[in-house]
Amino acid sequence: VVILALETSCDETSAAVVADGSQILSNIISSQVDVHRKFGGVVPEVASRKHLELLNRVVEEALAAAGLGFKDLDAVAVTYGPGLVGALLVGVAAAKAFAYGLDLPLLGVNHLEGHIYANFLAEPGLAFPLLCLVVSGGHTDLVLVEKHGRYRVVGRTRDDAAGEAFDKVARTLGLGYPGGPLIDRLAAGGDASAISLPRAYLEKGSLDFSFSGLKSAVINYLHRAAQRGEEVNKADLAAGFQQAVSDVLTEKTLAAAKETGVSTILLAGGVASNSGLRAALTESAGQESIRVVIPAPVLCTDNAAMIACAAYYKYLRGAFAPLTLNAVPDLKLGEERYEGNFKKI
Ligand code: ATP
Ligand code: MG
Ligand code: FE
Repeated sequence: VVILALETSCDETSAAVVADGSQILSNIISSQVDVHRKFGGVVPEVASRKHLELLNRVVEEALAAAGLGFKDLDAVAVTYGPGLVGALLVGVAAAKAFAYGLDLPLLGVNHLEGHIYANFLAEPGLAFPLLCLVVSGGHTDLVLVEKHGRYRVVGRTRDDAAGEAFDKVARTLGLGYPGGPLIDRLAAGGDASAISLPRAYLEKGSLDFSFSGLKSAVINYLHRAAQRGEEVNKADLAAGFQQAVSDVLTEKTLAAAKETGVSTILLAGGVASNSGLRAALTESAGQESIRVVIPAPVLCTDNAAMIACAAYYKYLRGAFAPLTLNAVPDLKLGEERYEGNFKKI
């Protein structure tokens, strides 16, 4: 089964061709970060326009890199939520046009489901139940994956998402945008124990997260130093922040794994490419004899291959979308929101 997938939920315009949910024939990712950098974040209107400009070219490139033509495809898949509505619409409209024009089945994929399925690209045979820590720009969720397409969120952030915290802290440190990779790099040369920062564990037994206190602590530290005219060791501060985030994420993920009785933990989302988090989770889980699966960094951040992979399992269970598929900016994990029935005339 060869699937062409499109991903345009945020600021990456991506198209991929994946065979049988695991053979990545191509995965073209055109990032708009250079366009949004001068604004310090993603500007929704600009993102939509850029997707419109780039998508056809990215699709052509994905097919060329795969060495295939439209006639070789078995289905077309697209992210239809959650994300920026205007950005999602570009991908959804294009996917529907391809599906209709080529007479191929259409598959609508949840963006977070895509992040989780980046793990199945590398290991199609993962045995359920699985616990996945989804850490991205907009989400921090602990998800119990009971079987293909069946999810239970057992923990979530009460304020900032992990990636959002990285980006905001990077901005106050004057590092630039997007902040996650910059903090990761800076932290490598810092001493994580030099500056003490808070960790929020919330009520006893809670699997929820909170990063706003940590973020404020970093900002306050910088302000106090500025008032006193003291030089700040940014590498130490970045390392301390990254360690604090990794500590809480790791501890809660292991607690959730024990509570749910899973023996394999998955990591997903853009922040899953953070070297500190990858190391901390692998180390702690190893001590408990729990296996950890982490996708390659390029499959952790937004890409269409992960969408094609999630779509493959939907294809197998016949969970196709109607050609009336619409963008659903607030789509929840495990939910399908298809409107109407499309009748060919
Ligand atoms: P969502 O998936 O929740 O809709 P999104 O698609 O915008 O949000 P992703 O592309 O999955 O988010 O991840 C982007 C986030 O990952 C950004 O906040 C970015 O700073 C962060 N990130 C990327 N690389 C790293 C890294 N090495 N360390 C920490 N954070 C990182
Ligand atoms: Mg992005
Ligand atoms: Fe994402």
